[in-house]
Amino acid sequence: MKYVDVILPLPLHDTFTYAVPPEMEEGIKRGCRVVVPFGAKKIYTAIVIRVHDVRPDFDNIKPIKELLETTPVVTERQLQFWEWIAKYYICSMGDVYKAALPAGLKPKDKDAIREKNKRRRLSLNNGTLSDISILSPLSDAQNKAYGEIIDSFDSHPTTLLHGVTSSGKTEIYIHLIDKYIKEGKQVLYLLPEIALTTQITDRLERVFSDHMGVYHSKFTDAQRVAVYQKQLSDEPFQLILGVRSSIFLPFNNLGLIIVDEEHETSYKQQDPAPRYHARNAALVLANMYGAKTLLGTATPSFEVYHAARKGRYGYVQLTQRYKDIQLPEIQIVDMKEARSKRKMKGAFSFELIDAIQDALERKEQVILFQNRRGYSNFIECKNCGWVPRCEHCDVSLTYHKKTNQLTCHYCGYTYRLPDKCPACEEKNFASKGLGTEKVEDQIRDIFPEATTLRMDLDTTRSRTSYENIINDFAEHKADILIGTQMVTKGLDFDNVSIVGILDADHLLHQPDFRSYERTFHTLSQVAGRAGRKHRQGKVFLQTRNADSDIIQQIVNNDYWGMFFQQMTERKDFHYPPFYRLIDVYLRHRDNQLLGHLADDMADRLRQVFGARVLGPDCPPVSRIQSLYIRKIMIKIEHSASIEKVRDVLTTIQLQMLEQTVAHGLTIHYDVDPM
Ligand code: ADP
Ligand code: ZN
Ligand code: ZN
Repeated sequence: MKYVDVILPLPLHDTFTYAVPPEMEEGIKRGCRVVVPFGAKKIYTAIVIRVHDVRPDFDNIKPIKELLETTPVVTERQLQFWEWIAKYYICSMGDVYKAALPAGLKPKDKDAIREKNKRRRLSLNNGTLSDISILSPLSDAQNKAYGEIIDSFDSHPTTLLHGVTSSGKTEIYIHLIDKYIKEGKQVLYLLPEIALTTQITDRLERVFSDHMGVYHSKFTDAQRVAVYQKQLSDEPFQLILGVRSSIFLPFNNLGLIIVDEEHETSYKQQDPAPRYHARNAALVLANMYGAKTLLGTATPSFEVYHAARKGRYGYVQLTQRYKDIQLPEIQIVDMKEARSKRKMKGAFSFELIDAIQDALERKEQVILFQNRRGYSNFIECKNCGWVPRCEHCDVSLTYHKKTNQLTCHYCGYTYRLPDKCPACEEKNFASKGLGTEKVEDQIRDIFPEATTLRMDLDTTRSRTSYENIINDFAEHKADILIGTQMVTKGLDFDNVSIVGILDADHLLHQPDFRSYERTFHTLSQVAGRAGRKHRQGKVFLQTRNADSDIIQQIVNNDYWGMFFQQMTERKDFHYPPFYRLIDVYLRHRDNQLLGHLADDMADRLRQVFGARVLGPDCPPVSRIQSLYIRKIMIKIEHSASIEKVRDVLTTIQLQMLEQTVAHGLTIHYDVDPM
């Protein structure tokens, strides 16, 4: 009798063993999907990870219901990669399975499984491929960098391309992709954000046409299944352009991974598990294939820059914009002064208003950045100061004017606007703080003639909405683009001469050891959207911290200054890149009990890790979806074995969860949190 160990798409740490009916024995292999019963009624699509003949020591071993294919849908290399992710990020293989396969490949009920199978066979198309078109040539500076990258790969499989915004990094990538494809190798091009894929897809499609597949969450599931299946076929796409989840696609001959905007924190998956960092995981993936990795950015992350300085990664620099256009001039607007002298209209300083006016008259475009969506951050009773908060989370609600609703940005719950204050019956509310909706309203007030577009989570629910906003702005169907961090990342518009940063302080004051690094990245990137094609652009940076080092470093594009100053602090306080962080999160409905359990767990951890353990603390948002949260932070030397750390953590976790008082407690880890 044969048995299989399978993984289920569940956050359970174990594999499950089933019996293999004789008629399936021949075809079943590691990496194949099977349909299995689970519990009393449930049916799941599971992945076989081991076929063996060891009878498990429990009764009532259930047989597999169905074998979905005899050629594995998850390759050996993919499974090894999944295993690495599960181990490094301390999660279950089930968690990785859930993230790695498009939903259409892991249907839940049997009819859906049959249906999907039929459809998947239909959706595979294998036509003849067109030739790669001739490329737009590189400039001298770009050519030099290109040569240096190729040379660097000989000694350093991971190389950093540090090139100022609009220096033509994307053009260099295109030439590299072309070289690898012509050598018969596959290329994976990773982007941090869907908004960006729209523009880059257009640029790459002109060159690589049907050699390229695009993969991200705004595509329909059927489209994602089709790309996945094509990668398994004999004629896979040579180039995959995608966001972080595309590291889970099958490859057979991967030669190069490009991680564009490598500093972007959205490469890290926050929730749910696996909480992986796609850039770091990509390095492991590349290593498995013997492939090279190019990390590109204008503002390297400390981790990567540090590694390049230490000689672990290769380093190539581009210091000039394409056509030698000057980097934008950044003008600081002191908001303290502007407010006190009443030189503001709403969120806009007079300087910024004048600059927008001039740009509009010259028929140029403007980007305005405010990193909050909605209308106001919260509303407040004008009489007693009462602020509506979410019933399930420890946060105030954001007011959205368009829908006239209050929304919780943590759990998504929406509430009707109260017609009077429940505390004092006052009927008037003040809206506090500045969201992108309010910015748009104010702009329409000040510049009634100008046309505006807004890009934030609320206006980009679908793929076409992204494309429409970006295309419309590129075609100058609007004068002013207002947006959250979505407008800061790598977008390439020819005609933008003015960028306005409405509130830099909001970024600076995040309670996080990376807030300065991140502010530098974000503001330098958004500034980089100005003056890309024709002549130097101008950026207005509104802040109450005009004299602070970090604002000066941004204005002077002084990456070095910022890096060295921050690195000293990182070293002194045992933060990355000198130390590795692991955050332990505990959640429970009962706040008091959770407090005790968190103390207990921290004590147990201290017995092993000593002073490396900090906390427990209440995170800034300490209740989400009715669960209270505590966080314990562990700072580990890089020399420590991550396997041993993981073993200790999982052992202590088991001890914790075995206690009857701990019923209802959940524990999860965030390794290398961002
Ligand atoms: P980066 O990725 O460094 O921000 P891009 O590759 O987007 O820079 O280049 C900025 C702009 O300059 C783009 O519009 C791009 O098409 C143009 N450009 C850069 N290099 C070249 C080149 N060698 N030939 C033609 N256009 C170029
Ligand atoms: Zn009130
Ligand atoms: Zn909520």
